Amino acid sequence: MVKKEQYKVVILGSGPAGLTAAVYASRANLEPLLVDGGGGDDPTDVPGGQLMLTTDVDNYPGFPEGILGPELMEKFRAQAERFGTEFAPGALKAVELHERPFKLTLDGAVVRAESLIIATGARARWLGLPEELAFRTRWGGVSACATCDGFFYKAKRVLVVGGGDTAMEEATFLTKFASEVTIIHRREEFRASKIMLQKAQHNPKISWMLNSVVEGILGGEGKGVTGARVRNVKTGESAEIACGGIFMAIGHEPNTQLFRGLLETDPQGYLLTHDGTTATSMPGVFAAGDVQDHRYRQAVTAAGSGCMAAIDAERFLSH
Ligand code: NAP
Repeated sequence: MVKKEQYKVVILGSGPAGLTAAVYASRANLEPLLVDGGGGDDPTDVPGGQLMLTTDVDNYPGFPEGILGPELMEKFRAQAERFGTEFAPGALKAVELHERPFKLTLDGAVVRAESLIIATGARARWLGLPEELAFRTRWGGVSACATCDGFFYKAKRVLVVGGGDTAMEEATFLTKFASEVTIIHRREEFRASKIMLQKAQHNPKISWMLNSVVEGILGGEGKGVTGARVRNVKTGESAEIACGGIFMAIGHEPNTQLFRGLLETDPQGYLLTHDGTTATSMPGVFAAGDVQDHRYRQAVTAAGSGCMAAIDAERFLSH
């Protein structure tokens, strides 16, 4: 399944960070193996990462007319292929980092890596409602990224679910486009920092439905989202709220399960990198993209850090 037993660089992840690292590592003649990460338990675990779940991408530089997320990732992949990156389908199953070359167990193969670039990304948390996935990926109207998709909700009412900083930030950002933004939060107390909460509270375009949960998403194919069924958890009453979109802001999780205890992470599990580089706490292991970044989470910043990781790996290998 793989061509060699040992690689100078193995890259984990096929989103913008992993594929950019692959382009740079290939062009530096490091002959990388890229493990594309598809085939997990979640149906949204597809090669290409989170952009495979979005429609139009209007903010990736170089595409003045915009481009579809999956099409953009196809181009990234074609570019990495052009320079000879080898691709391995499936996900990493196990990893040993205590000696170099590192030992990686993949779907159907065990390989050794002199250096490792982790670009496994993060996943948004979702409510898990029936048809949520269809709205997210095909019908439109459900998103977890206001920066990516807010523009499509001009003059519409949108709902933001969550009570943390992300919810406050997304709601505040969405007021630039939407006619009204309603924050739906399951209790009265907020996890958000005071300053971000207050900013949202002082915004006249933001309204609030507290002690409330979204029970169902209304709309469908061809219509997108037309509303939500929202239940007040204190009174038990349900109401249908008309809206054109729903933003889930209930947190993200980095895809770092296999590295817990092996590499330094922050309390949320994001990999820590050091000294303005992509170096992790283990020499020879580098991290790029959302797996080490819960602040920016953009395709272009992920691609930039993928480039950095390939350069860092090349320098590490040449010493
Ligand atoms: P978070 O702080 O974990 O907040 C998640 C929110 O979603 C909570 O209010 C939680 O409700 C709610 N929630 C979780 N699961 C839910 C479910 N199934 N149904 C309904 N509601 C649910 O996540 P975050 O807001 O993404 O922030 C993550 C980290 O990034 C934080 O450390 C945050 O400070 C940081 N951050 C910082 C900035 C900034 O400084 N500019 C911006 C964004 C994020 P409960 O409160 O009831 O648990």
